[in-house]
Amino acid sequence: MARMAPPARVAVIGSGPAGIYAAEALVKQAGDEVRVDVFDRLPTPYGLVRYGVAPDHTSIKSIARYLQRVLEDPAVRFFGCVELGRDVTRADLLDCYDAVVYSTGAMVDRHMRIPGEDLPGSIAATDFVNWYCGHPDAADHEFDLSVEEVAVVGVGNVAVDVVRILARTAAELRATDVPEQVIEVLSRSRVRRIHMIGRRGPAQAKFTTKEARELGQLPDASIHVSPRDMELDPASAELAESDRHVRGNIKALSAWTGEPAAGSARHIDVRFWRAPVEILGTDRVEGLRLETTRLDESGRVTGTGEFETLPVGMVLRSVGYQSVPLEGVPFDERSFVVPNEGGRIVGPDGAFVPREYVAGWIKRGPSGVVGTNKSDAAETVRNLLADLADAGTAPERTIEELLESRGLPVVTYDDWLNLDAAEIALARRLDRGERVKLARWEAMRSACRGPA
Ligand SMILES: Cc1cc2nc3c(=O)[nH]c(=O)nc-3n(C[C@H](O)[C@H](O)[C@H](O)COP(=O)(O)OP(=O)(O)OC[C@H]3O[C@@H](n4cnc5c(N)ncnc54)[C@H](O)[C@@H]3O)c2cc1C
Repeated sequence: MARMAPPARVAVIGSGPAGIYAAEALVKQAGDEVRVDVFDRLPTPYGLVRYGVAPDHTSIKSIARYLQRVLEDPAVRFFGCVELGRDVTRADLLDCYDAVVYSTGAMVDRHMRIPGEDLPGSIAATDFVNWYCGHPDAADHEFDLSVEEVAVVGVGNVAVDVVRILARTAAELRATDVPEQVIEVLSRSRVRRIHMIGRRGPAQAKFTTKEARELGQLPDASIHVSPRDMELDPASAELAESDRHVRGNIKALSAWTGEPAAGSARHIDVRFWRAPVEILGTDRVEGLRLETTRLDESGRVTGTGEFETLPVGMVLRSVGYQSVPLEGVPFDERSFVVPNEGGRIVGPDGAFVPREYVAGWIKRGPSGVVGTNKSDAAETVRNLLADLADAGTAPERTIEELLESRGLPVVTYDDWLNLDAAEIALARRLDRGERVKLARWEAMRSACRGPA
Protein backbone atom coordinates (compact mmCIF):
# COMPACT_ATOMS: atom_id res chain seq x y z
CA MET A 1 0.00 0.00 0.00
CA ALA A 2 1.62 3.23 -1.15
CA ARG A 3 0.59 5.72 1.47
CA MET A 4 0.40 8.06 3.60
CA ALA A 5 1.08 9.63 6.97
CA PRO A 6 -0.75 9.75 9.32
CA PRO A 7 -2.03 6.15 9.45
CA ALA A 8 -5.40 5.41 7.86
CA ARG A 9 -8.24 5.06 10.34
CA VAL A 10 -10.62 2.15 9.87
CA ALA A 11 -13.77 1.41 11.90
CA VAL A 12 -14.96 -2.19 12.21
CA ILE A 13 -18.56 -2.53 13.39
CA GLY A 14 -19.13 -5.81 15.21
CA SER A 15 -16.51 -7.66 17.25
CA GLY A 16 -17.50 -11.19 16.25
CA PRO A 17 -15.01 -13.39 14.43
CA ALA A 18 -15.46 -11.54 11.13
CA GLY A 19 -14.81 -8.12 12.70
CA ILE A 20 -11.79 -9.26 14.65
CA TYR A 21 -10.34 -11.20 11.71
CA ALA A 22 -10.82 -8.02 9.65
CA ALA A 23 -8.88 -6.03 12.27
CA GLU A 24 -6.15 -8.69 12.20
CA ALA A 25 -5.97 -8.61 8.40
CA LEU A 26 -5.77 -4.80 8.41
CA VAL A 27 -2.85 -4.82 10.80
CA LYS A 28 -1.12 -7.71 9.00
CA GLN A 29 -1.59 -6.27 5.53
CA ALA A 30 -0.99 -2.56 6.28
CA GLY A 31 1.31 -2.63 9.32
CA ASP A 32 2.02 0.83 10.75
CA GLU A 33 -0.08 2.50 8.10
CA VAL A 34 -3.38 1.70 9.76
CA ARG A 35 -5.21 2.11 13.08
CA VAL A 36 -8.33 0.04 13.71
CA ASP A 37 -11.24 0.73 16.07
CA VAL A 38 -13.54 -2.25 16.68
CA PHE A 39 -17.04 -1.40 17.93
CA ASP A 40 -19.72 -3.59 19.45
CA ARG A 41 -23.16 -2.89 20.84
CA LEU A 42 -22.29 -5.26 23.71
CA PRO A 43 -19.70 -4.68 26.43
CA THR A 44 -18.12 -7.99 25.40
CA PRO A 45 -16.17 -8.92 22.27
CA TYR A 46 -16.26 -12.17 20.21
CA GLY A 47 -19.88 -12.16 18.94
CA LEU A 48 -21.27 -15.65 18.45
CA VAL A 49 -18.12 -17.29 19.77
CA ARG A 50 -19.39 -16.06 23.13
CA TYR A 51 -23.14 -15.95 22.42
CA GLY A 52 -23.78 -18.70 19.88
CA VAL A 53 -21.23 -21.50 20.05
CA ALA A 54 -22.69 -23.99 22.53
CA PRO A 55 -21.27 -23.92 26.06
CA ASP A 56 -20.26 -27.58 25.88
CA HIS A 57 -18.17 -26.91 22.73
CA THR A 58 -15.22 -25.71 24.75
CA SER A 59 -12.54 -26.21 22.12
CA ILE A 60 -14.36 -23.93 19.65
CA LYS A 61 -14.99 -21.39 22.39
CA SER A 62 -11.23 -21.27 22.98
CA ILE A 63 -10.94 -19.45 19.61
CA ALA A 64 -11.66 -16.41 21.80
CA ARG A 65 -8.07 -16.64 23.05
CA TYR A 66 -6.78 -16.19 19.50
CA LEU A 67 -9.17 -13.29 18.87
CA GLN A 68 -8.07 -11.68 22.14
CA ARG A 69 -4.52 -11.33 20.82
CA VAL A 70 -5.82 -9.23 17.94
CA LEU A 71 -7.62 -6.87 20.32
CA GLU A 72 -4.39 -6.52 22.29
CA ASP A 73 -2.43 -5.30 19.25
CA PRO A 74 -1.37 -1.67 19.89
CA ALA A 75 -2.91 -0.65 16.55
CA VAL A 76 -6.36 -1.95 17.59
CA ARG A 77 -8.85 -0.46 20.06
CA PHE A 78 -12.15 -1.88 21.37
CA PHE A 79 -15.22 0.28 21.93
CA GLY A 80 -17.95 -1.72 23.67
CA CYS A 81 -21.55 -0.60 24.25
CA VAL A 82 -21.55 1.51 21.08
CA GLU A 83 -24.36 0.53 18.76
CA LEU A 84 -24.48 1.61 15.15
CA GLY A 85 -27.96 3.05 14.59
CA ARG A 86 -28.49 3.94 18.25
CA ASP A 87 -25.32 5.65 19.46
CA VAL A 88 -23.55 6.45 16.23
CA THR A 89 -24.75 6.74 12.65
CA ARG A 90 -23.21 5.69 9.41
CA ALA A 91 -22.56 9.38 8.64
CA ASP A 92 -20.72 9.78 11.97
CA LEU A 93 -18.45 6.88 11.10
CA LEU A 94 -17.70 8.26 7.66
CA ASP A 95 -16.81 11.60 9.28
CA CYS A 96 -14.35 9.97 11.66
CA TYR A 97 -12.78 7.22 9.54
CA ASP A 98 -11.17 6.65 6.18
CA ALA A 99 -13.12 3.41 5.77
CA VAL A 100 -15.77 1.36 7.59
CA VAL A 101 -16.21 -2.42 7.69
CA TYR A 102 -19.64 -3.65 8.78
CA SER A 103 -19.53 -7.12 10.37
CA THR A 104 -22.73 -7.20 12.40
CA GLY A 105 -23.56 -10.86 11.75
CA ALA A 106 -26.94 -12.50 11.17
CA MET A 107 -28.67 -13.66 14.31
CA VAL A 108 -32.37 -13.16 13.56
CA ASP A 109 -34.47 -16.29 13.08
CA ARG A 110 -36.57 -16.82 10.05
CA HIS A 111 -40.22 -17.68 10.62
CA MET A 112 -41.98 -20.90 9.56
CA ARG A 113 -45.08 -18.90 8.52
CA ILE A 114 -47.61 -21.38 9.87
CA PRO A 115 -50.71 -20.77 12.02
CA GLY A 116 -50.08 -20.70 15.77
CA GLU A 117 -46.49 -19.51 15.44
CA ASP A 118 -47.17 -16.58 17.77
CA LEU A 119 -48.50 -18.70 20.66
CA PRO A 120 -46.59 -18.61 23.94
CA GLY A 121 -44.25 -21.59 23.90
CA SER A 122 -43.42 -21.13 20.20
CA ILE A 123 -39.89 -19.80 20.32
CA ALA A 124 -37.07 -18.75 18.03
CA ALA A 125 -34.06 -20.97 18.64
CA THR A 126 -31.91 -17.84 18.77
CA ASP A 127 -33.84 -16.63 21.83
CA PHE A 128 -33.16 -19.93 23.56
CA VAL A 129 -29.50 -19.91 22.45
CA ASN A 130 -29.09 -16.32 23.65
CA TRP A 131 -30.58 -17.28 26.99
CA TYR A 132 -28.39 -20.30 27.70
CA CYS A 133 -25.34 -18.44 26.38
CA GLY A 134 -26.01 -15.59 28.82
CA HIS A 135 -26.71 -12.82 26.27
CA PRO A 136 -27.80 -9.74 28.25
CA ASP A 137 -30.79 -9.13 25.94
CA ALA A 138 -32.16 -12.57 26.88
CA ALA A 139 -31.27 -12.69 30.58
CA ASP A 140 -34.86 -12.24 31.72
CA HIS A 141 -36.48 -14.50 29.14
CA GLU A 142 -38.52 -17.26 30.69
CA PHE A 143 -38.84 -20.69 29.17
CA ASP A 144 -41.42 -23.06 30.54
CA LEU A 145 -39.49 -26.30 30.87
CA SER A 146 -42.27 -27.90 32.92
CA VAL A 147 -43.49 -29.43 29.64
CA GLU A 148 -42.57 -33.05 28.92
CA GLU A 149 -42.27 -32.95 25.14
CA VAL A 150 -40.57 -30.36 22.95
CA ALA A 151 -40.22 -30.08 19.17
CA VAL A 152 -37.12 -28.54 17.62
CA VAL A 153 -37.82 -27.73 13.98
CA GLY A 154 -34.72 -27.81 11.80
CA VAL A 155 -31.85 -30.17 11.12
CA GLY A 156 -28.86 -27.81 11.04
CA ASN A 157 -26.08 -27.48 13.60
CA VAL A 158 -27.95 -24.85 15.63
CA ALA A 159 -30.94 -27.20 15.95
CA VAL A 160 -28.57 -29.96 17.08
CA ASP A 161 -27.06 -27.60 19.69
CA VAL A 162 -30.51 -26.77 21.04
CA VAL A 163 -31.54 -30.44 21.19
CA ARG A 164 -28.30 -31.32 22.97
CA ILE A 165 -28.67 -28.59 25.60
CA LEU A 166 -32.28 -29.68 26.25
CA ALA A 167 -31.17 -33.31 26.50
CA ARG A 168 -28.26 -32.73 28.85
CA THR A 169 -28.76 -32.71 32.58
CA ALA A 170 -28.01 -29.53 34.51
CA ALA A 171 -25.22 -31.40 36.28
CA GLU A 172 -23.50 -32.00 32.92
CA LEU A 173 -23.60 -28.27 32.18
CA ARG A 174 -22.24 -27.13 35.53
CA ALA A 175 -18.67 -27.26 34.26
CA THR A 176 -19.54 -24.88 31.40
CA ASP A 177 -19.91 -21.10 31.41
CA VAL A 178 -23.74 -20.95 31.37
CA PRO A 179 -25.11 -18.42 33.88
CA GLU A 180 -26.19 -19.67 37.31
CA GLN A 181 -29.84 -18.75 36.70
CA VAL A 182 -29.84 -20.90 33.54
CA ILE A 183 -28.46 -23.88 35.47
CA GLU A 184 -31.24 -23.38 38.02
CA VAL A 185 -33.99 -23.41 35.37
CA LEU A 186 -32.45 -26.40 33.56
CA SER A 187 -32.16 -28.33 36.82
CA ARG A 188 -35.96 -28.08 37.19
CA SER A 189 -36.59 -29.10 33.57
CA ARG A 190 -39.23 -31.81 33.18
CA VAL A 191 -38.54 -32.28 29.48
CA ARG A 192 -38.38 -36.01 28.74
CA ARG A 193 -38.76 -36.25 24.99
CA ILE A 194 -37.32 -34.02 22.26
CA HIS A 195 -38.41 -34.34 18.65
CA MET A 196 -36.00 -33.00 16.04
CA ILE A 197 -37.89 -32.40 12.82
CA GLY A 198 -36.68 -32.12 9.23
CA ARG A 199 -38.87 -31.25 6.24
CA ARG A 200 -36.69 -33.32 4.00
CA GLY A 201 -34.76 -36.56 4.37
CA PRO A 202 -31.54 -37.66 6.02
CA ALA A 203 -29.52 -37.01 2.85
CA GLN A 204 -30.59 -33.36 2.93
CA ALA A 205 -29.84 -32.75 6.63
CA LYS A 206 -27.56 -29.74 7.04
CA PHE A 207 -25.89 -30.71 10.33
CA THR A 208 -22.29 -31.83 10.22
CA THR A 209 -21.58 -35.46 11.05
CA LYS A 210 -19.44 -34.51 14.03
CA GLU A 211 -22.31 -32.51 15.59
CA ALA A 212 -24.82 -35.28 14.86
CA ARG A 213 -22.65 -37.96 16.44
CA GLU A 214 -22.52 -35.99 19.68
CA LEU A 215 -26.28 -36.51 20.08
CA GLY A 216 -25.69 -40.25 20.20
CA GLN A 217 -22.98 -39.87 22.84
CA LEU A 218 -24.91 -38.00 25.52
CA PRO A 219 -24.48 -39.71 28.88
CA ASP A 220 -28.13 -39.71 29.92
CA ALA A 221 -30.19 -39.53 26.72
CA SER A 222 -31.32 -42.18 24.25
CA ILE A 223 -31.89 -41.47 20.56
CA HIS A 224 -33.91 -43.04 17.77
CA VAL A 225 -34.71 -42.51 14.12
CA SER A 226 -37.30 -44.65 12.39
CA PRO A 227 -35.93 -46.98 9.66
CA ARG A 228 -38.81 -45.73 7.46
CA ASP A 229 -37.48 -42.15 7.73
CA MET A 230 -34.06 -43.40 6.63
CA GLU A 231 -35.31 -44.85 3.33
CA LEU A 232 -33.55 -43.05 0.48
CA ASP A 233 -35.07 -42.12 -2.86
CA PRO A 234 -32.74 -42.79 -5.85
CA ALA A 235 -31.36 -39.20 -5.93
CA SER A 236 -30.61 -39.27 -2.20
CA ALA A 237 -29.04 -42.73 -2.47
CA GLU A 238 -26.75 -41.37 -5.19
CA LEU A 239 -25.82 -38.42 -2.96
CA ALA A 240 -25.02 -40.82 -0.13
CA GLU A 241 -22.55 -42.51 -2.49
CA SER A 242 -20.95 -39.41 -3.95
CA ASP A 243 -20.97 -36.85 -1.13
CA ARG A 244 -18.73 -37.41 1.89
CA HIS A 245 -20.80 -35.20 4.18
CA VAL A 246 -24.05 -37.01 3.28
CA ARG A 247 -22.38 -40.42 3.58
CA GLY A 248 -21.10 -39.53 7.06
CA ASN A 249 -24.50 -38.29 8.18
CA ILE A 250 -26.32 -41.37 6.90
CA LYS A 251 -23.83 -43.61 8.69
CA ALA A 252 -24.22 -41.72 11.97
CA LEU A 253 -28.02 -41.69 11.71
CA SER A 254 -28.26 -45.37 10.74
CA ALA A 255 -26.70 -46.27 14.08
CA TRP A 256 -29.86 -44.95 15.77
CA THR A 257 -32.48 -47.03 13.95
CA GLY A 258 -32.44 -49.88 16.47
CA GLU A 259 -34.38 -50.15 19.72
CA PRO A 260 -33.36 -47.13 21.88
CA ALA A 261 -31.64 -47.86 25.18
CA ALA A 262 -34.10 -47.86 28.08
CA GLY A 263 -33.69 -46.03 31.38
CA SER A 264 -32.23 -42.72 30.19
CA ALA A 265 -33.45 -39.46 31.67
CA ARG A 266 -34.32 -38.09 28.22
CA HIS A 267 -35.09 -39.37 24.75
CA ILE A 268 -34.47 -37.78 21.34
CA ASP A 269 -36.60 -38.70 18.31
CA VAL A 270 -35.11 -37.58 15.01
CA ARG A 271 -37.96 -37.33 12.47
CA PHE A 272 -37.38 -36.71 8.79
CA TRP A 273 -39.94 -36.10 6.03
CA ARG A 274 -42.25 -34.03 8.26
CA ALA A 275 -43.36 -30.45 7.54
CA PRO A 276 -44.85 -28.44 10.41
CA VAL A 277 -48.23 -27.15 9.21
CA GLU A 278 -49.78 -25.74 12.39
CA ILE A 279 -48.92 -25.08 16.01
CA LEU A 280 -51.97 -26.03 18.07
CA GLY A 281 -53.21 -24.51 21.33
CA THR A 282 -55.43 -21.77 22.69
CA ASP A 283 -53.42 -19.91 25.33
CA ARG A 284 -50.13 -21.65 24.68
CA VAL A 285 -48.57 -24.40 22.60
CA GLU A 286 -50.34 -27.72 23.06
CA GLY A 287 -49.27 -29.59 19.96
CA LEU A 288 -47.55 -29.49 16.61
CA ARG A 289 -49.33 -30.76 13.52
CA LEU A 290 -47.05 -32.27 10.92
CA GLU A 291 -47.61 -33.39 7.36
CA THR A 292 -45.54 -36.22 5.94
CA THR A 293 -43.55 -35.10 2.91
CA ARG A 294 -41.62 -36.51 -0.02
CA LEU A 295 -39.52 -35.05 -2.82
CA ASP A 296 -41.29 -34.60 -6.16
CA GLU A 297 -39.70 -35.26 -9.54
CA SER A 298 -38.01 -31.84 -9.53
CA GLY A 299 -36.56 -32.40 -6.05
CA ARG A 300 -39.02 -30.07 -4.29
CA VAL A 301 -40.65 -30.97 -0.97
CA THR A 302 -44.32 -31.81 -1.32
CA GLY A 303 -46.95 -32.92 1.21
CA THR A 304 -48.43 -36.42 1.01
CA GLY A 305 -51.74 -35.58 2.73
CA GLU A 306 -50.83 -37.76 5.72
CA PHE A 307 -50.93 -35.86 9.04
CA GLU A 308 -50.01 -36.47 12.67
CA THR A 309 -49.94 -34.36 15.83
CA LEU A 310 -47.14 -34.34 18.39
CA PRO A 311 -48.29 -33.53 21.94
CA VAL A 312 -45.54 -30.98 22.52
CA GLY A 313 -45.73 -28.02 24.91
CA MET A 314 -42.92 -26.07 23.26
CA VAL A 315 -41.80 -25.55 19.67
CA LEU A 316 -38.35 -24.15 18.92
CA ARG A 317 -37.78 -23.11 15.34
CA SER A 318 -34.32 -23.19 13.83
CA VAL A 319 -35.06 -22.86 10.15
CA GLY A 320 -32.49 -20.28 9.09
CA TYR A 321 -30.96 -16.99 10.10
CA GLN A 322 -30.78 -13.62 8.49
CA SER A 323 -29.05 -10.30 8.93
CA VAL A 324 -30.88 -7.11 9.75
CA PRO A 325 -30.44 -4.02 7.57
CA LEU A 326 -28.20 -1.21 8.83
CA GLU A 327 -29.62 2.26 8.39
CA GLY A 328 -28.42 3.89 5.18
CA VAL A 329 -26.45 0.80 4.09
CA PRO A 330 -27.73 -1.05 0.98
CA PHE A 331 -29.47 -4.33 1.80
CA ASP A 332 -30.80 -7.15 -0.32
CA GLU A 333 -34.22 -8.03 1.10
CA ARG A 334 -34.29 -11.38 -0.69
CA SER A 335 -30.95 -12.82 0.34
CA PHE A 336 -30.75 -10.79 3.58
CA VAL A 337 -27.16 -9.68 3.06
CA VAL A 338 -25.50 -6.42 2.08
CA PRO A 339 -24.92 -6.57 -1.69
CA ASN A 340 -21.17 -6.67 -2.25
CA GLU A 341 -18.37 -7.85 -4.43
CA GLY A 342 -15.45 -9.20 -2.47
CA GLY A 343 -16.62 -7.13 0.51
CA ARG A 344 -16.97 -3.86 -1.45
CA ILE A 345 -20.55 -2.67 -0.92
CA VAL A 346 -22.55 -2.32 -4.11
CA GLY A 347 -25.17 0.45 -4.21
CA PRO A 348 -28.60 0.32 -5.90
CA ASP A 349 -27.03 1.84 -9.05
CA GLY A 350 -24.60 -1.08 -9.29
CA ALA A 351 -21.57 1.08 -8.41
CA PHE A 352 -19.31 0.48 -5.41
CA VAL A 353 -20.14 2.61 -2.39
CA PRO A 354 -16.88 4.37 -1.54
CA ARG A 355 -15.19 3.63 1.82
CA GLU A 356 -17.80 1.08 3.02
CA TYR A 357 -17.23 -2.67 3.23
CA VAL A 358 -18.68 -5.83 4.74
CA ALA A 359 -17.27 -9.02 6.24
CA GLY A 360 -18.68 -12.22 7.76
CA TRP A 361 -22.30 -13.31 7.89
CA ILE A 362 -23.70 -9.94 6.82
CA LYS A 363 -21.52 -10.25 3.70
CA ARG A 364 -22.18 -13.86 2.68
CA GLY A 365 -25.10 -15.09 4.83
CA PRO A 366 -25.01 -17.56 7.73
CA SER A 367 -22.71 -20.26 6.45
CA GLY A 368 -19.44 -21.94 7.30
CA VAL A 369 -17.53 -22.32 10.53
CA VAL A 370 -15.82 -19.65 12.62
CA GLY A 371 -12.61 -20.03 10.58
CA THR A 372 -14.47 -19.33 7.30
CA ASN A 373 -14.70 -15.71 8.41
CA LYS A 374 -10.93 -15.37 8.40
CA SER A 375 -10.38 -15.73 4.66
CA ASP A 376 -13.64 -13.87 4.08
CA ALA A 377 -12.41 -10.87 6.11
CA ALA A 378 -8.95 -11.00 4.52
CA GLU A 379 -10.56 -10.68 1.07
CA THR A 380 -12.53 -7.62 2.18
CA VAL A 381 -9.42 -6.02 3.67
CA ARG A 382 -7.34 -6.59 0.51
CA ASN A 383 -9.94 -4.67 -1.49
CA LEU A 384 -10.30 -1.97 1.16
CA LEU A 385 -6.57 -1.30 1.28
CA ALA A 386 -6.27 -1.27 -2.50
CA ASP A 387 -9.06 1.35 -2.64
CA LEU A 388 -7.51 3.44 0.15
CA ALA A 389 -4.18 3.54 -1.63
CA ASP A 390 -5.96 5.06 -4.63
CA ALA A 391 -8.05 7.58 -2.73
CA GLY A 392 -6.63 8.86 0.54
CA THR A 393 -9.22 10.70 2.60
CA ALA A 394 -8.97 12.97 5.60
CA PRO A 395 -11.52 12.24 8.30
CA GLU A 396 -13.11 15.43 9.63
CA ARG A 397 -13.23 14.64 13.32
CA THR A 398 -12.12 12.03 15.83
CA ILE A 399 -14.31 9.36 17.32
CA GLU A 400 -13.15 10.38 20.82
CA GLU A 401 -14.64 13.87 20.34
CA LEU A 402 -17.84 12.44 18.99
CA LEU A 403 -18.37 9.84 21.73
CA GLU A 404 -17.51 12.36 24.42
CA SER A 405 -19.90 14.95 23.02
CA ARG A 406 -22.69 12.36 23.32
CA GLY A 407 -21.71 11.31 26.84
CA LEU A 408 -21.78 7.62 25.90
CA PRO A 409 -20.68 5.13 28.59
CA VAL A 410 -18.19 3.37 26.34
CA VAL A 411 -16.67 0.08 27.54
CA THR A 412 -12.94 -0.06 26.82
CA TYR A 413 -10.87 -3.20 26.36
CA ASP A 414 -9.58 -2.84 29.95
CA ASP A 415 -13.17 -2.56 31.22
CA TRP A 416 -13.97 -5.80 29.39
CA LEU A 417 -10.95 -7.42 31.06
CA ASN A 418 -12.49 -6.48 34.41
CA LEU A 419 -15.71 -8.26 33.41
CA ASP A 420 -13.68 -11.21 32.14
CA ALA A 421 -11.88 -11.46 35.48
CA ALA A 422 -15.17 -11.21 37.40
CA GLU A 423 -16.60 -14.16 35.46
CA ILE A 424 -13.51 -16.26 36.10
CA ALA A 425 -13.63 -15.38 39.81
CA LEU A 426 -17.34 -16.26 39.95
CA ALA A 427 -16.62 -19.73 38.52
CA ARG A 428 -14.02 -20.25 41.23
CA ARG A 429 -16.41 -19.14 43.96
CA LEU A 430 -19.15 -21.45 42.71
CA ASP A 431 -16.74 -24.32 42.17
CA ARG A 432 -17.72 -24.49 38.51
CA GLY A 433 -15.50 -24.65 35.33
CA GLU A 434 -13.27 -21.89 33.94
CA ARG A 435 -15.89 -19.16 33.78
CA VAL A 436 -19.50 -18.45 34.72
CA LYS A 437 -21.08 -15.74 32.61
CA LEU A 438 -22.72 -12.68 34.02
CA ALA A 439 -25.83 -12.18 31.94
CA ARG A 440 -27.62 -9.13 33.29
CA TRP A 441 -26.78 -5.69 31.90
CA GLU A 442 -26.45 -4.20 35.38
CA ALA A 443 -24.13 -6.94 36.63
CA MET A 444 -22.02 -6.68 33.48
CA ARG A 445 -21.74 -2.90 33.68
CA SER A 446 -20.82 -3.04 37.32
CA ALA A 447 -18.17 -5.76 36.69
CA CYS A 448 -16.69 -3.61 33.91
CA ARG A 449 -15.93 -0.94 36.51
CA GLY A 450 -13.63 -3.40 38.31
CA PRO A 451 -13.55 -4.58 41.92
CA ALA A 452 -15.09 -2.02 44.30
C1 LIG B 1 -26.13 -20.88 17.64
C2 LIG B 1 -24.85 -20.91 16.82
C3 LIG B 1 -23.86 -21.84 17.11
C4 LIG B 1 -22.69 -21.88 16.36
N1 LIG B 1 -21.76 -22.83 16.67
C5 LIG B 1 -20.64 -22.89 15.92
C6 LIG B 1 -19.66 -23.89 16.22
O1 LIG B 1 -19.83 -24.73 17.14
N2 LIG B 1 -18.53 -23.93 15.44
C7 LIG B 1 -18.31 -23.03 14.42
O2 LIG B 1 -17.26 -23.08 13.76
N3 LIG B 1 -19.23 -22.06 14.13
C8 LIG B 1 -20.37 -21.98 14.86
N4 LIG B 1 -21.31 -21.02 14.55
C9 LIG B 1 -21.02 -20.07 13.45
C10 LIG B 1 -20.15 -18.88 13.89
O3 LIG B 1 -20.56 -18.43 15.15
C11 LIG B 1 -20.23 -17.78 12.81
O4 LIG B 1 -19.57 -18.26 11.66
C12 LIG B 1 -19.57 -16.46 13.21
O5 LIG B 1 -19.85 -16.07 14.53
C13 LIG B 1 -20.02 -15.33 12.26
O6 LIG B 1 -19.22 -14.21 12.55
P1 LIG B 1 -19.70 -12.70 12.36
O7 LIG B 1 -18.59 -11.90 12.95
O8 LIG B 1 -20.12 -12.48 10.96
O9 LIG B 1 -21.02 -12.53 13.25
P2 LIG B 1 -21.24 -12.52 14.83
O10 LIG B 1 -20.42 -13.55 15.49
O11 LIG B 1 -22.72 -12.59 15.01
O12 LIG B 1 -20.74 -11.09 15.32
C14 LIG B 1 -21.46 -9.92 15.07
C15 LIG B 1 -21.17 -8.89 16.16
O13 LIG B 1 -21.74 -7.64 15.76
C16 LIG B 1 -22.34 -7.02 16.89
N5 LIG B 1 -23.37 -6.11 16.38
C17 LIG B 1 -24.52 -6.44 15.77
N6 LIG B 1 -25.20 -5.33 15.41
C18 LIG B 1 -24.45 -4.26 15.82
C19 LIG B 1 -24.61 -2.85 15.73
N7 LIG B 1 -25.69 -2.31 15.15
N8 LIG B 1 -23.67 -2.05 16.27
C20 LIG B 1 -22.55 -2.59 16.87
N9 LIG B 1 -22.35 -3.92 16.97
C21 LIG B 1 -23.28 -4.76 16.43
C22 LIG B 1 -22.90 -8.17 17.70
O14 LIG B 1 -23.12 -7.82 19.06
C23 LIG B 1 -21.79 -9.22 17.52
O15 LIG B 1 -20.83 -9.12 18.54
C24 LIG B 1 -22.49 -20.97 15.28
C25 LIG B 1 -23.49 -20.03 14.99
C26 LIG B 1 -24.67 -20.00 15.74
C27 LIG B 1 -25.75 -19.02 15.37
